[in-house]
Formats: sequence, C-alpha cells, structure tokens
Amino acid sequence: MKRAMRQTELFTKTRKDAPADEVSRNAELLIRGGYIHKEMAGVYSFLPLGLRVLKKIENIIREEMDKIGGTEMKTAVLQNKEIWEKSGRWSDQAVDTWFKTKLKNGGEAGLSFTNEEAYSSILKQYINSYKDLPVYAYDFKDIFRNETRSKSGIMRGREFYWKALYSFSRDEKEHNEFYEKIKTSYRNIFQRTGIGHLTYITFASGGSFSKFSHEFQTLTPAGEDTIYLDEGSGLAVNKEVYNDEVLAELGLDKNKLVEKRAVEVGNIFSLGTKFSAPFDLNYKDQSGKEKPVIMGSYGIGLGRLLGTVVEVLSDDAGIVWPESIAPFAAHLLSLGESEKVLGESEKVYQKLCQAGIEVLFDDRPGISPGEKFADADLLGMPYRAVISERSAQEGGIEIKQRKEKKGKILSVEELVKTLSETEKSAEEK
Ligand code: ATP
Ligand code: MG
Repeated sequence: MKRAMRQTELFTKTRKDAPADEVSRNAELLIRGGYIHKEMAGVYSFLPLGLRVLKKIENIIREEMDKIGGTEMKTAVLQNKEIWEKSGRWSDQAVDTWFKTKLKNGGEAGLSFTNEEAYSSILKQYINSYKDLPVYAYDFKDIFRNETRSKSGIMRGREFYWKALYSFSRDEKEHNEFYEKIKTSYRNIFQRTGIGHLTYITFASGGSFSKFSHEFQTLTPAGEDTIYLDEGSGLAVNKEVYNDEVLAELGLDKNKLVEKRAVEVGNIFSLGTKFSAPFDLNYKDQSGKEKPVIMGSYGIGLGRLLGTVVEVLSDDAGIVWPESIAPFAAHLLSLGESEKVLGESEKVYQKLCQAGIEVLFDDRPGISPGEKFADADLLGMPYRAVISERSAQEGGIEIKQRKEKKGKILSVEELVKTLSETEKSAEEK
C-alpha cells in the first residue's frame, strides 16, 4: 500500500447522504466517506480508503494467527457438491442460506459458504501419522450466504470477507491447549483493532461435541444478539443458551447479570470428530493404532469487525479510527490559495512523505475550509494537520487529534516526530 496520497488523486468523494434504503449507521458513514459502495442490500464493494482499513485489519489478524503457528492458504470459492454431500450439508434442508450455481456440462457447485468440508478433504491427503499433526491452517476468503436479514450494513452481508482457521489435533488435550491459545489471540486482535474494551467472551451453543462454543461479543445497540454479562468477571452468556442450569454450571450469579445488545465479531468452536469422521480423517499414533483427528474452527468477519469499529467509536461528525487501522495516520489540510500556504503545504507533505508517515493530503483547490474540516471529521483520520495563513504566521502547522476539540501549533520537525512516534506505538501494540 502506498503510504501517502493526495486527495486530488482519489476518485472517491464524500457525500452528504447515504442511499435512502440504508438504515445502518456503519454503512451510512462508510458510504458517505467513500469507503464502501453499496451494490445491493447486503452486498458492498470496498473502495480505496475502505480497502486500506480492511487490509490493516487483515494484517493484524494474520500476525496473531502466525504467532500461534497458523499457516495461511487460499481455498477455492466454488465448492464441490460431492464433498459437501459427505458431511450432509449440501441439501437446502441442512443449510438454507446456500448460493448454488448450475454448471454448463451438468452438475452443480456451491459458492463458498464455510470451509470445514474443504479443509477436511484437503488435509485428508496429507495427514497419515501422528508426526503430521498438529496442523493450524487458515485463509482469508469471500463467503456467500443468502441471509434474509440484511439491515446491519457491512455487519451482515450476503457476501462478506472472513478469516477462518481450522485446527487438526491428535487428541482433546492438544486441542484444548490450542483452543486456549487462540482465545488469547482473539483478545489481542480485538484489543489491537480498538474494540477490546467493549468485547466479551461469551458462552454460546456448542453442537454435538462440546456443550459450549465461545463467541466474542462487542457491546453495541447495533448488534443483533442479546447477551447476559457479568461485568465483574467479564464473562457473558448468549441468550440462546441462557437458563438456570447453564448459569449454575458456569459460577455465574444470575442476579448480577445485565442484559446487553451485542454483535458477534468472532467465534471459536470445538468440532471433535464431526468432520473428521465423514472424511475418514484419521492418523496412526506412535503404536500404529488408527485414531480420528480432533478439529476446531475459528472465525472472524473482517467487514463485521470494521463495521463494529465504526458503530462503537464514531461520533456525530463522523468516523473516529483507532491509529492501528486508520487508512492514514494523518490528514493534512491545506486551507487557502495563497502562494505562502500552497508552498508551505507542499513542503510539509514532502517532509511527511520522506519520513514515511501515512498521510492523506487534502490539496483540493476551491474547497472551503469548512468543507475540508467537515470531510476530515467524516473520514476520521487520527490526526488532522492544518496549514493556513494563521498557522503559517504562527510559524508552523496546527495539529489536532480527531478526538480532541483544540489543537496546537507545531513546527514541521515536531510534527514529523509526533506522527512517527504515534505510528511506531500503533505498530508495537
Ligand atoms: P451469525 O450468528 O451472526 O449469523 P454465524 O454463527 O453464522 O454468525 P460463522 O458462520 O461462525 O457465523 O462465521 C464466523 C464469523 O463470520 C462470525 O463470527 C462473524 O464475525 C462473521 N459473519 C458471519 N456471518 C456474517 C455475515 N452475514 N456478514 C458479515 N460477517 C459475518
Ligand atoms: Mg449466520
């Protein structure tokens, strides 16, 4: 990704209004800012600024997955009917949100709905012995689901981008150790993307092989889920599994739980042998005995995460990006057309470029200061740096954090230093 860009090079423009049929705050702000484009309900394209945010989220997730031994791959988007028939999930009775398509020479294929089947059938080719395990493989992928509800903007798409990791372990013990590790990775991911303080690990329905799965739920009125949160321990229970027996089993005092709206930004599942059994995914242990592989799956919706950040951190004027995922660290505004201001702005932009600062330069001619300020607030870069007659007279650049009301005047050198330090600390987090 290029680190610096002039706004005159950016084909997107801000808009006063989102499409009339857009009811979600996240999509409204992202469309107005030119981050995304709405194709139809539940289907959005990522425009240059939106893609920058998505890629930053992707990189944070990739770093955390690689840290715990993940290996990235890329599976096909068209999915094989025969493979899905093995697990019993091809039929519309089993999965009612499939997008399927007919092939010209007969037969059918599915548009990637989820990846357990694909991973099980691929790994079957490579896992024979205990020496081949464990395996932790993942990909980032476009997923297609014919969702009926699509009123939550990019938080619930009919087409959406996710990361899913699948773990293949020798036994329950090895599986459980990894399961605990990935819980920590998920906490790191949500912390690093700016929603950690609002995100709670939540007991949810498990399926045939474990009583519970775990969801990472971020508190927001825009969420579609209801959870019961114990603010003391930070543990929560999804309404779908909430009953007296479950509360007793977890050491949770009911009287203390508060009901909250939340959005599931990620989830982790113990799958046991649910998929290894139909795919004959077995291995020989040290004594030569054949045993089934124990699996787990771990998802995060990147668009949903991005939409959640917008929902929970924005204010009346627009988006407030955390430094770690902002498209640019700084928005440099040139106000006025005098030679002094134009010359000074060019000089500062060059300095920031040389220092490797991620900066968007509002060099658009003929746009009023009021409009430039409003656009800067809407777009939400963490720092706004303004060059005007006044700042030039005061010998510098006026810098203000997006969250602050008042700015201060800095010299170019001080500006470079402040922004370099901010970028460094965002990267280290
Ligand atoms: P939900 O209950 O919200 O429909 P899910 O249980 O179907 O989610 P999974 O199939 O386990 O979700 O997908 C893993 C992750 O992908 C979810 O935790 C969520 O972050 C994201 N996700 C799921 N469905 C969507 C969607 N329609 N649009 C955007 N992100 C999604
Ligand atoms: Mg779903």
